[in-house]
This record gives sequence, structure tokens and C-alpha cells, in this order.
Amino acid sequence: EALNEILDIKGSIRAFCRVRPFLLSDRRRIHEPVSTGLEKVVVKSVGIRKEYRFDKVFHQAATQEDVFVEVEPILRSALDGHNVCILAYGQTGTGKTFTMDGTNNQAGIIPRAVEELFRQASLDNSSITFSMSMLEVYMGNLRDLLAPKVASRTYEVAAKCNLNIQTDPKGMVEVEGLTQVQIPDSAKAKWWYAKGRRARSTSWTNVNEISSRSHCLMRITISRHGDDSKAKAHVSKLWMVDLGGSERLLKTGATGQTLDEGRAINLSLSALGDVIAALRRRRGHVPYRNSKLTQILKDSLGDSSKVLMLVHISPWEEDVGETICSLSFANRAR
Ligand code: ADP
Ligand code: MG
Repeated sequence: EALNEILDIKGSIRAFCRVRPFLLSDRRRIHEPVSTGLEKVVVKSVGIRKEYRFDKVFHQAATQEDVFVEVEPILRSALDGHNVCILAYGQTGTGKTFTMDGTNNQAGIIPRAVEELFRQASLDNSSITFSMSMLEVYMGNLRDLLAPKVASRTYEVAAKCNLNIQTDPKGMVEVEGLTQVQIPDSAKAKWWYAKGRRARSTSWTNVNEISSRSHCLMRITISRHGDDSKAKAHVSKLWMVDLGGSERLLKTGATGQTLDEGRAINLSLSALGDVIAALRRRRGHVPYRNSKLTQILKDSLGDSSKVLMLVHISPWEEDVGETICSLSFANRAR
């Protein structure tokens, strides 16, 4: 039985690593500290040689298609009724948003997942419907990205306003008052997603700021109705999360507001790491309550849910310190 438990938990938490390629604008290509094998990453720098194992490693030339092929099975789990969490982790600039959103001609996981869900649902006999929500978590506050205009511009302090995090008797988590829109087809889903992304940027002065200091969470709720129309639908959730930058702002001489924001991100990321590490140990207390992020994702991180951590790393020598931190985080979570 113990062995089964170990196999089970290994099956439900996976970690992939993706190395960002050198970009045309990079002029600092001096020495490449990172090399990749099929399932391992080796970091070699002055006085350092470290090896990290992953369930899958994507080297610099890996395409969006290569990544999606490996993500696809977990989408099937979501359609089969499991709660699923796909998390993009890494230092700012390493490709989290590229992996999740992609670009116009190199679509990322989110648009591909949306297409795939509708394709699979159309092949299925039972009737499946989808709805969607999006929110941003910033310094412990939540913002509903799909809310009608006025509300979407302001943050709600989760502890006291509309956006309370509730757990129902069956353990399902709901963010009270969070807008949930029906998505009849993939085009509409992408339309809402773009709208959420735009709402996200209105309160920030620049795009890098948003993504490095806050988490962006998108949720697709999957309802499967059986033949009996009176019976309750089976509901599962698919979370796709573009996490805030994992760089340690404390060490970069950040001050004031920036320092507080960095601290908040670092705290919530370490809370996430603690939760996943506790789940892997499979015993004892799982510290969900330590951050808003882990409270919101609670029912999609434990028990019968599937977690995929996508760790992004930089190809630059000067980022070796951050790279090692990110890889170690994943190893702990894996
Ligand atoms: P992050 O979201 O982690 O801060 P981005 O996704 O914004 O990082 O990536 C930083 C830059 O690198 C962007 O211009 C992005 O298009 C580019 N980029 C990231 N990963 C890749 C990749 N695998 N292939 C091509 N360009 C990439
Ligand atoms: Mg980003």
C-alpha cells in the first residue's frame, strides 16, 4: 500500500524544465552554463557543477508544439474529472508568458489547451460545458480580471471584501464573487482571455512590472453532465497560472514598494513550494493557509489533482545564481 501511495503521488506531480533560447537582442553570449539531456539539466560555471532531474526537459530549440505534446495528457485528466494545475515558474524574462500565452504565430499552452478541450469535448458522448475565470494576485490581494470595468480596476483585499476564499463541504474552493463566464467555443474563450490580459495591464505603468510582481491565474471549469439531466454535473477545474518572477529582489538592492512586492511574491512562491513538498511527503500537515495563492489553488493541488510545474531558466552565465535557485525549487517540488 505504501508503495502504491508513492507511485500515485509521483504520478500526480510533475516538473518540466524549459531553457530559454538566446534571443537576437542578446549580446552577452559568452559562455553557456546550462546544458540539457533528455531528462536532466546540468549547470556548469566557475566552481559549480550541478545536475537536476526532471520528468521532461526542453532545450533551447524546443518548439511550442514540443511542449504542448507533453502537456496534453494532463488536459485529458481534467476532462476525466481531475482538478489540474499547470504552473509556469521562473525568473522574469525566462519565458513563462511565452510558454503559457505564446505569440501570434507561436501559440502557447493556453490557446492550444482551449482548442484541445473543445476538440475532445466534441468527441465525447456526455455533454460537457466550459466556463472561465481570471484573477490576479498582488501582495495578497485579488483582482477579478473579467469583472465589469469599474470593479476590475481595483483590488479587493481578500480577507474582507467580495473576494473571500470559501471552501464548501466537499472541499471545493470558490473565490466569492469572482466573475465566471460561459465559454461556448474556443474563439470566445480566447476573446475573454485577451480581455482579461488587457484588464490586467490597466493599473500598471509597464508590462514587465505586472508579470514580475503579481501572479496571473486563469481557470477553466469543466462541467460534465450525464444522461440524467436532473443529476448534478461533475465539475473539475483546470488552472493555468503565470506566476510572478522568482528572482530574489531582496538581493538586488530593491527598496520601498518594489521590495515589499518582491517579498510578497517570494513568500507566496515559497508557500507554494512548501505545499507541494508536503504533498509529496504524503503525510503531515499541508500548509495551504500561508498564502492567498495556495488558498485559491488548494483543491487543485492535493489529493486526486494533477500538478504540472514548468520551470523556466535563463541561458545566461550571469543568471546562474537564479537558475540554480529555480532548479532547486523544482527538485524540492518534484
Ligand atoms: P517571462 O514571462 O518569464 O518574464 P517572457 O515570456 O516575457 O518571460 O520572455 C521574455 C522574452 O523572451 C520575450 O520576448 C519572449 O518572446 C522571449 N522568449 C521566451 N522564451 C522563448 C522561446 N522559447 N523562444 C523564443 N522566444 C522566447
Ligand atoms: Mg511574463
